[in-house]
Amino acid sequence: MNVTVVVMNGALRLNDNKALAKASGFKEPVLPLVIFPESLWKKTWFEYPSMGPHRQSVLHRAMLSLEQQLNEVGGTLWASNQSVGASLKHLMVTVNVVRIIGTHGVGAYEQQMQQEIEQMANQSSILVEWVWDHTLLHPSQLPFSIDNAPRSFSKFRKQCEALPIEPPVAVPSIQYSRVQPPLSVEQVFQVPAADVASQGTGGEAAAMAHLTHYIWESKAILHYKNTRNLSIGPNVSTKCSVWLSTGVLSPRTIAHEVRLFERKVKRNESTYWVLFELLWRDFFQFQCQRYGMQWYAFGGLQGLADAPPTYNQYVFESWVNGKTNEPFVNGHMNELRQTGYMSNRGRQVVASYLIHDCNQDWRRGAEVFEHYLVDYDVASNIGNWMYIAGCGNSATKRIFNIQNQQKKYDPGNNYVQKWLNC
Ligand code: FAD
Repeated sequence: MNVTVVVMNGALRLNDNKALAKASGFKEPVLPLVIFPESLWKKTWFEYPSMGPHRQSVLHRAMLSLEQQLNEVGGTLWASNQSVGASLKHLMVTVNVVRIIGTHGVGAYEQQMQQEIEQMANQSSILVEWVWDHTLLHPSQLPFSIDNAPRSFSKFRKQCEALPIEPPVAVPSIQYSRVQPPLSVEQVFQVPAADVASQGTGGEAAAMAHLTHYIWESKAILHYKNTRNLSIGPNVSTKCSVWLSTGVLSPRTIAHEVRLFERKVKRNESTYWVLFELLWRDFFQFQCQRYGMQWYAFGGLQGLADAPPTYNQYVFESWVNGKTNEPFVNGHMNELRQTGYMSNRGRQVVASYLIHDCNQDWRRGAEVFEHYLVDYDVASNIGNWMYIAGCGNSATKRIFNIQNQQKKYDPGNNYVQKWLNC
């Protein structure tokens, strides 16, 4: 049986999915494939494996949901926990793969996977196409090539924020392959979906319900700019990052809802600011694509030749385990380990503390975030760590006074009280 394989890594959704939309234009049935090779659980820079319990839980539930959605429209989801080579070999003895279409990823790990798929496909004369689908703006819309993208966010924003955002693509009418996958999602993840993630669990329906509640029902979007830096409180920020990182929700879907709300209900500085932050996300995605392996270097985009500071295990582990002398840092690290989430301000504060107060290598902190965050994303994570360290798009070191931050963003000590003794 001839099929078009759609690699759905990074885009675990049916709505506004450009790879699926493209595949719908061919006559062969579509076979959706997701590969989570075992190496993902082992991959590490220093000590922490990439996939921690919270992200595993989030991905697991998103995959279960996608499997169900596909089953409801007559399709199946091929999920694999083997290497790219083994996954494709298995597939190719079962069906005749005519072409492979997938969503382009900007990180080193994603690009390595893409290359492995291309190599296997070339050997069997299978066509491969990667579709850029995970940002508000498509690279072809930018007034510059990615390799010439401005290094400063303000320059990027000024040139890009007025560009039109493509409306979300409707779910295409697709004839799916009915070939049964060798493993169910449950078998791929091997353990039942752990109930560890505090938020963002589920698939497209859960994500849309969350977005609808945040924008339309609670109208919390109207005070986003004033509350987004708070560490605690209902709806202080959108909490969409988890769904963006798994690709359950596209950024264009969020932008579309925001713009609709602006037209139908109200437009203010806060509604604008949600789009502003999504543009920060785009900025880091394009930067990550542009800089390739430099993204992972200690000297970052500034190309600094300094040697990384000496690792101090006691200092570092005190930070990870919330045992420093700073209650505001400890509370945030406790929240991260227990829930997989931390507010943006919390992330800035704990990163500044580790880099500038403890004099530790920012990449070790980034690795801990990669392991624990439910919304881990290589571009946003490393881009922000480099920004605080002063080796990213700007050479200015972002140094926070921890106690002043606590006074400003947790004046009643409610946040610290909640997370201190966990
Ligand atoms: P909101 O405040 O509601 O923002 C809306 C959306 O805009 C977010 O979902 C996110 O997609 C985007 N956004 C907001 N702030 C930023 C930012 N500074 N950089 C890039 N995009 C942004 N975000 C991740 O998605 N994954 C990460 O791995 C990640 N690591 C970070 C590490 C550090 C050290 C820092 C300082 C920030 C990091 N961020 C990361 C950015 C930001 O903290 C989170 O996106 C945000 O806290 C998620 O909560 P929210 O969805 O409620 O954000």
